Amino acid sequence: MPRQKSSKQRLLDHLLANIGRVIEAKELQEISGWAAEWGRRIRELRDEQGYQILSHKDRADLKPGQYLIETTKRKPAFERGVSKETRAYVFERNGYTCQMCGVAAGDADYFHPGRTVRLTLGHILDKSKGGEDTPSNLRAVCTNCNEGLQNAAPQKPDRIHLLAQIRRAAIEDQQAVFIWLTGKFKNQKIAPVKSKVKSSRA
Ligand SMILES: [Zn+2]
Repeated sequence: MPRQKSSKQRLLDHLLANIGRVIEAKELQEISGWAAEWGRRIRELRDEQGYQILSHKDRADLKPGQYLIETTKRKPAFERGVSKETRAYVFERNGYTCQMCGVAAGDADYFHPGRTVRLTLGHILDKSKGGEDTPSNLRAVCTNCNEGLQNAAPQKPDRIHLLAQIRRAAIEDQQAVFIWLTGKFKNQKIAPVKSKVKSSRA
């Protein structure tokens, strides 16, 4: 007689069969066979096995008790070991923006129409070259850059060119830039920016 599947395996099978559909807690409870510990099993699938099961803590459009899994891909082992605090710190430091291509979390995903960009953690110095899982060696990258879908990271825009673009943008676009920058730097003291001309002679 085949052994009965564990409640965790049943939950995983059900989640993977429902990629992209919001699932209510009650449905998961039922699938688990009304296991008292079903919530803990979900956490194990997420934190130990790396399945990217989203809840209202990850997505504003989910209500408490709703779960969503959008991909069968699992987070790499290193990322499961990185604390929530470190992850949040790195994302905040990087303005929730991919440090390779510049898209932000929640932007429309060019490679997956109808979806929004998701960020993950990447290493600045690759692990194979001795890079560590520390905040100073981690950065926000979008899942597309992380999977190598974008062949080359565009060069960072030059400051004068960037300012010129903003100065001639429409007021609403300037306001969007202002709101984004204000959010990004709200907790930081900003030192005066050194002139590029002078600093290049130093
Ligand atoms: Zn990217």
